[in-house]
Amino acid sequence: MNSTCPYCGVGCGVTVNGGAIAGDAAHPANFGKLCVKGSALAQTLDDSARLTTPIIGGASASWDDALNLVAQRFSEAIAQYGPESVAIYGSGQFLTEDYYVANKLMKGFIGAANIDTNSRLCMASTVAGHTRAFGEDVVPGCYEDIDEADLLVFVGANAAWCHPVLFERAQAARIARGAKIVVIDPRHTATAALADLHLPIRPEGDVALFQRLLAALCERGKLDNGFIAAHTSGFAETLAAAHDDAETGLDPAALQTFLNWFCDTERTVTLFSQGVNQSACGSDKVNAITNVHLATGRIGRPGMGPFSLTGQPNAMGGREVGGLANQLAAHLRFETESDRALLRDFWNAPRLAEKPGLKAVDMFDAVLNGRIKAIWIAATNPAESLPRASRVRAALEACPFVAVSDCWPTATTHLANVVLPAAGWGEKDGTVTNSERRISRQRPFRAAPGMARPDWWIFTEVAHRMGFQEAFSYASPADIFREHAALSGFRNQGARLFNIAPLAAMTDEEYDALLPVQWPLNRKRLFAEGGFPTPDGKARFVPVTAPAPAKRDASFPFTMNTGRLRDQWHMMTRTGFVPSLMTSADEANFEISPADAAQLGVVEGDLLRVTTRHGRSVLPAAITKAQRPGEIFAAMHWTSAHSGAGNVNQLTGPLCDKLSGQPALKHERAAVEGLQAAWHGILQSRAGTMPHGQFHAARVPVAGGMHRLRLSGWKPLPRDAALSDWAARLCGADADDERVEFYDSARKIYRLGIFRHFRLVACLFIAPARPALPDGAALSALFAAPVQQANRAAILRGKIGDSGPRDRVVCVCHNVTERAITGAIKAQRLASVAAIGAACKAGTNCGSCKGELAQLLTQLTSELVS
Ligand code: SF4
Repeated sequence: MNSTCPYCGVGCGVTVNGGAIAGDAAHPANFGKLCVKGSALAQTLDDSARLTTPIIGGASASWDDALNLVAQRFSEAIAQYGPESVAIYGSGQFLTEDYYVANKLMKGFIGAANIDTNSRLCMASTVAGHTRAFGEDVVPGCYEDIDEADLLVFVGANAAWCHPVLFERAQAARIARGAKIVVIDPRHTATAALADLHLPIRPEGDVALFQRLLAALCERGKLDNGFIAAHTSGFAETLAAAHDDAETGLDPAALQTFLNWFCDTERTVTLFSQGVNQSACGSDKVNAITNVHLATGRIGRPGMGPFSLTGQPNAMGGREVGGLANQLAAHLRFETESDRALLRDFWNAPRLAEKPGLKAVDMFDAVLNGRIKAIWIAATNPAESLPRASRVRAALEACPFVAVSDCWPTATTHLANVVLPAAGWGEKDGTVTNSERRISRQRPFRAAPGMARPDWWIFTEVAHRMGFQEAFSYASPADIFREHAALSGFRNQGARLFNIAPLAAMTDEEYDALLPVQWPLNRKRLFAEGGFPTPDGKARFVPVTAPAPAKRDASFPFTMNTGRLRDQWHMMTRTGFVPSLMTSADEANFEISPADAAQLGVVEGDLLRVTTRHGRSVLPAAITKAQRPGEIFAAMHWTSAHSGAGNVNQLTGPLCDKLSGQPALKHERAAVEGLQAAWHGILQSRAGTMPHGQFHAARVPVAGGMHRLRLSGWKPLPRDAALSDWAARLCGADADDERVEFYDSARKIYRLGIFRHFRLVACLFIAPARPALPDGAALSALFAAPVQQANRAAILRGKIGDSGPRDRVVCVCHNVTERAITGAIKAQRLASVAAIGAACKAGTNCGSCKGELAQLLTQLTSELVS
C-alpha cells in the first residue's frame, strides 16, 4: 500500500506493509527517504487516547444526535443573525476532499466566507506574494531544481529540521555539483551549521537584504533586460524603491560574499519558509525575493526560481480548493465578478458569498465579541496554537455553540458543546498536494477506531441536515475529487493555471491507483517563457519598502522568535506520545545568548520568566551561542498538555501582515527575567497527570505507558508534612494509597513512593541540582516488579545512581547521545559529519541530525583551539 507522510509540506511517499512503514522508493518527493518523524510514523498508530464516539455536553452520543445538533445550531444562528454569524476553522491536516466540502458548504451554501484554516499561520503571506507577482498562487519550480542548482539560498527556513528530506537533496547537490548553500536566519540553526555561508540577519531585515541585492544586480549589469521587457511590468518603480544602504545588521564582508555569489550564479534557487511568512511584512518579503528572480529571469528554468516551502502536508491542497477566507475555490477570486458567477453556476449556489470572510485572528476576535454565535473547528487546536491562546480559550468559553471534530482530546475539544470523532492518518482516503504542486494519494490501511469518521463525511452529513442534500450527494472521496477537478477546468480558457480537468474523468479504480502528479498536468516548471496568469500575461514587480529596525522598547527589550523542533509536529498530539521522539528534546526551553544570560545572572538549569503584552511563561534557560544578543527563541510545540508553566503560544500577539493576515509569530517584544532554580525534581507515574503551578514541569512519555515529569521550582518547597502532602498530590496519590518517604539529609534529596496494592504507581525525587536526580533508566527499574510491603522502604532507600551531567539523544535512529558523539570527536579528532557517522553511526540513517553534528563539531573545534 502506498500513501504519504502526514507531516510537512515535502510530502514524502511511504509504503505500508503490515505494521512496517518505510519510504516509497518510487515517490518523486523522497525516493525512499524519510526523516526522523516519518520514520517513527508506525509508533503513532496507538488508538488508546483516541476520540471514538460523538460527545454532547460531555456524554457519549449517537452520530445522528451530534450531527443534527450541529446542523440545528448553525441553522438557528443563520436564521436569527445571518450567515456571517457562523464560522468554520479548519486545518492543513485536511485532505483536499475534506477541504473542498467544508469550503463549498460555507461559501457556497451558508453564503458567508467565514472559513479559515491554521494554514493562515503557515503560508498566507506566500499566497499573497505569489498572487501579487504572478497573478495566481503558483510555485514556479520543482524539487529537481534543488538537485540542479549551483546556489541554494534558504531564507527564514530551518530546513534541516523542518523539511529534512529536501535539505538532504540540497546536501547531495553540494556534494555532486559543488552547489553552495547560504542560510539567512537570525539564529545559527542546524541548517546554518551545514551552510557555506550563514547571514545572521537582524529580525525583519530580509526585505532590506533583497533590496540591496536588487540594487547590486542592477549596478553589476546582471539584469535580464530581455525578460524584464518581454514578461514583466513595474520594474522601474521597484528598482527606484530598492535602496542599496538598507540596514541588514550583517557583517559587510559576509554581505558582499552573498551579493557576489548571487550576482554571479545563474542557477540559483531561493527557498523560503516561516521566517519569511510569519512576519508583519511577510508578503513584502515574498515579493522582495520574487523581484530578484524576475529581474534576472531566473525563474522556471532548471535550477532556478523562488521556492516556497510549505509547512503542512496539504497546505497547498487547501489553497487549491480555496480553504482560506479570502479565496473562492480552484484559484477563483472574490475580486472578480466573473469568477464569482462561474462558481455560482458550477455549484448551483445562488447564495454564494460575495466578499472575503474573517481571517483566523479576526475570526476568534469575532467569537469573543459575540459576532460569531456558532463555530466549528476541525483538525486543529486553536486554544493552544493561535497567538494569544488564552484569549482564544476565553472566546470559545463565551461562544454560544462550539463544535469540534478531531482525533484526540485537546484543549479545544474540552471547550466544545459537541465533539465529533474524526478518522486520522492511515484511516482517511483522499489526496494531498506538496510544495512542488504534486498531488499524491493518501490511502487508508487501517480501520478508524470506534465510531470515528472522515472529515468529508462529517461535513457532508451536516450539509444534508441543513437542507443541501443535492449539492452534497457524495458517496466517496473520489466523487469529491472529480468535482474539484471538473471545477478547475470549468470555463477555464487558460486564465487559471490550476487546471486538473482531465482528472475529472477518472473512474473510482483510476482514482485509487492515481500516481503522484503535478499540476498543471505534465508541467514541472512555469514562467521561463513568461505566460503569467495576469490580464496582460506579464509578471508584476512589487515595489517594497524595508521596515526600519524596531526601536528599543525599555519595557520589552527582547525580541522573541518562535519555531519548530526537529522531532516534533505542531501541538504534539501525535509525536509527543512517541518516546523515541522525545529523547532529543524532552522539555521546552527559552534559548538565550551567553551575553544575555550573564547579564541576567542565569546559568544553565535556571529558569527564565518571559513576559509579553499578552502573557507570561516560565521555562528553563538554554544558553547558546546560536542566539543573537537581545533575542530569545522558544519552540511552539509545548502546550499545557506537556508543559506546566511554559505555554509558548500564549505569549504571541495579534500583529499580522496587513495584506495576508498572517500573524507575526517570530517577532514579539518581550521582557526576560532570570529565576534561580530553588529545587529540581523528577517524577515518574502511571497516571501522567500534568500539574500546573508555580514551578516548571515538562512531561514526556516513557515505555510501558508511563509518564515522566521534569520539574524545577523557583519558589522554596513546602516543609515537613506540607511537603509530603504537596508531593503526594503531585504524584496523583489517592487517600488509600501508601506513601513511603525517605530524606537523604547528607545529599538533601527527598524521595517519595506511592504504592497501590503491590505496585509502585508513582515516585518523586527532589534535589537541589539536576545531576543529583536519578536518570530515566534507574527510575523505570523501580517500577519493574511487584513490591512486597517489607521491601517498599528499601527500594527508596537503596542506592540509586545520579544522572550526572545532562545528556540527550542526538541521533534517534541509532540512539547515539551527545556525550557519545562529543567523546568520539575528541578521542578520534574527527573533523567532519561523515567521519562522525563512520565512528559512531550518528547521522547515517535518515540524516535529520547532521545539522546538530555540524554544530557539535564547530563548538568543539573552537573549544579545542582556544
Ligand atoms: Fe514526513 Fe516531511 Fe519528514 Fe518527509 S520530510 S518524512 S514529509 S516530515
